[in-house]
Amino acid sequence: MISERGRFCAICGAMDEVLLDNLCETCYKKEHPLEIELLKSLNVAICTDCGELRVLSTRIDPYVREESLEEVIREVARSAVLSKFHSGDPYDVEFEDDIKNDKIMNYGVKEFELRTKITLQPHEEFSPFEKDFITRLKMKRTICNDCSQYKSGYFEAILQVRAYKRKLTDDELDRFENLINTMMKQYEGAKLSYILDMEVVPDGITAQVSTKLLASNLAREIQAITAGKLSLAYELKTTKRDGTEVYQNTYLVRLPEFGKDDIIEYEKDIWKIRAINDDQMRLESLTNRKERKIVRKRVENSAKKLNDVLFPREYMLVSTEGQTVVIMAMDNYENFDDNLERLPLNKEVGSTIKGFLLDEKNYYTE
Ligand SMILES: [Zn+2]
Ligand SMILES: [Zn+2]
Repeated sequence: MISERGRFCAICGAMDEVLLDNLCETCYKKEHPLEIELLKSLNVAICTDCGELRVLSTRIDPYVREESLEEVIREVARSAVLSKFHSGDPYDVEFEDDIKNDKIMNYGVKEFELRTKITLQPHEEFSPFEKDFITRLKMKRTICNDCSQYKSGYFEAILQVRAYKRKLTDDELDRFENLINTMMKQYEGAKLSYILDMEVVPDGITAQVSTKLLASNLAREIQAITAGKLSLAYELKTTKRDGTEVYQNTYLVRLPEFGKDDIIEYEKDIWKIRAINDDQMRLESLTNRKERKIVRKRVENSAKKLNDVLFPREYMLVSTEGQTVVIMAMDNYENFDDNLERLPLNKEVGSTIKGFLLDEKNYYTE
């Protein structure tokens, strides 16, 4: 490069100008136009259901970015503009746009404008090059793949909660339904994570779950708070044209026949189940308050559940004398004697006791 004063421009003959390669600034810029590919338009597809963006065949999930749609579109458009522009020299860029959050989902708004002003100074001798142009963001409101799968009722797995040889209690149904709803809140906004349909009836819970992973996570959570057993069944749903087989998985959590707080008859005594885990039960005798740990299988094989045949009752402890206590039934105010060892521990005179009547005999639970 030659730059000197006192000579004239090789094209226009101007004198006393700063020359670069024997050309004045005007002629030089004409001969060496700035090579900028201007992005005139950019298609921005947005899912009106979930807000997912598709720009230059890239999928962008705004939930993951934790920014407003306006911000996300702005950033994506700016980087699309700059991706067309390469320069070895430093440059300044200024943007201006009319993207507005409340217009993004509005079908009436066909496009936004992004104005880009690039300033580049490749040669110290000359004033900077400036380029000012507009990119039209053509907005396309659509339904993305995942959302259309959801709409078409697509699901990969079924979650089932059942109990062994019994129906589920209202309390169990409430707990599991709440647990599922709470867990689903964590998946809010996550791709392809939804429950299509959930049936909650005394026979159990049945839910159509979008993905196998989600169904298995839900099943494991429920299993963890029960002493249930988890099993998995595969069912061939369809065979694709290329021969691959598509299976639908069923994740089944089977609750034990006996649960915590159940009243059972086992080895000729009446017990309340205090705790239950995968292998063991802890039982409290309602005739002498002694506790026993027993292998769960043994209890399940021979115990009889009494919940449905007993008659719940409330009592009051009227007085105690040695091992003898006087109890009053609250439903008919009848007083009768009983043995202290049959009562829950640490009951004071005047306190109420929960229990039940079974085969004309009173039992005390709490
Ligand atoms: Zn010239
Ligand atoms: Zn969508």
